[in-house]
Amino acid sequence: MNDTVSRGVGRTTLRRDLLPDSANLDAQGALTIGGVSIAELVERHGTPLFIYDEDHLRARCRETTDVLGPGRGIYATKAFLCRAMARLAHEEGMSLDVATGGELYVALSAGVPASVIELHGNNKSDDELNMAIEAGVGRIVVDSFDEIDRLERIVGHGPAPKVLLRLNPGIEVHTHEHIQTGNLDSKFGFAVPTGDAEAAIARASASASLDLVGLHFHIGSQVFSVDNFVAGLDAIAPFVTSADLPELVVGGGLGVAYVADDRASSISEWGAAILQRCAELGIRSVVRVEPGRAIAASAAITVYEIGTIKSIMDVRTYVAVDGGMSDNPRPILYDSGYEAFLPRAPFADRDMAVRVVGKHCESGDVIVKDGRLPSDVRVGDLLATPVTGAYGHSMGSNYNKMPRPAVVFVRDGSERLVVRRETYEDLLTTDLG
Ligand SMILES: *Cc1c(COP(=O)(O)O)cnc(C)c1O
Repeated sequence: MNDTVSRGVGRTTLRRDLLPDSANLDAQGALTIGGVSIAELVERHGTPLFIYDEDHLRARCRETTDVLGPGRGIYATKAFLCRAMARLAHEEGMSLDVATGGELYVALSAGVPASVIELHGNNKSDDELNMAIEAGVGRIVVDSFDEIDRLERIVGHGPAPKVLLRLNPGIEVHTHEHIQTGNLDSKFGFAVPTGDAEAAIARASASASLDLVGLHFHIGSQVFSVDNFVAGLDAIAPFVTSADLPELVVGGGLGVAYVADDRASSISEWGAAILQRCAELGIRSVVRVEPGRAIAASAAITVYEIGTIKSIMDVRTYVAVDGGMSDNPRPILYDSGYEAFLPRAPFADRDMAVRVVGKHCESGDVIVKDGRLPSDVRVGDLLATPVTGAYGHSMGSNYNKMPRPAVVFVRDGSERLVVRRETYEDLLTTDLG
């Protein structure tokens, strides 16, 4: 890729670093990822299509392990999970964080050993706890007094599972309200300011059914500033140091750049800042982190086909693609911004303002609210959105009975389909007529 291209920033040219690491141009100037042409992938697998750069995913897992130490990175599977992804994260030295029986089931089905799986959730059912204990998961992150009761009843005199207690530090961070999780008014964790956290430690330590090994907190998601994580540590440090337990998990939440103006820290910068602050604060526990988005988001793009272009005079131009809120609900949930580009000319001057919309029966079915595309865009073109590797496929739905897209991994000039496209028949799998 030439220099002008790689430096291209701003509104009219796509920022290079929003694309997966291996993104490149072929002889015709069209996009390739992992050495494979986007147009060819679409020919074989159709649209919409999630295309993941496998080496990018692996590199982010390794970066986590390199900065924190082996076994100290935990991939938050809710960001993106299929068996290939679970295996990949495990191969690269990550543990896996699952938050439901379903996520646990997929991770175990991938052949990931239960001992490196950690179970989260603010309302785990008896079935989920039983499943986790029977499988022998590495950690259960306990979220409430009711869960302590439930675990004591389930475990009884059996071997005590290793547990962490999830703290609610009572601090606010700058991100969307729906993904703030560390403020006092939250469904997650034992509140530190109210004394609940202290009471939970006393109960868990005294319980023969629980092996309390550490504390956990998670301040929220898509948090850009490393300072926010440092402030979170500052707030929780007195409590953590006085509890003096072997482990501290500081959650995930590192933000990624989605659009031209976003600035995000790298996993290395984030990890190093956390470790440094913990040392300064006298925290002696082994420090672990749980990134999801920072591993998966910028590893993938979603490719759609444009079916309709509608210009409303003096209003705007709508570009409609063959997916929408069923493959990317983040814009409708969080008002999230994305960029759009044409894979046939990814770094072309995007001289036209557009709104990219899906095909669902909702006006809120927007993929890119204030996007830009080259003005030679036409019906039948492929259109792609970068940074869709996290919370796209995993939050997807069958709304309007749309079959879910396929997911393909590319690497070194070869591809493997890891999730096939759903068929209309799949839509009837659970429908008993
Ligand atoms: C969602 C979540 C994560 C991952 O968050 P990202 O923003 O994707 O890094 C980690 N830990 C917990 C407890 C979570 O709920």
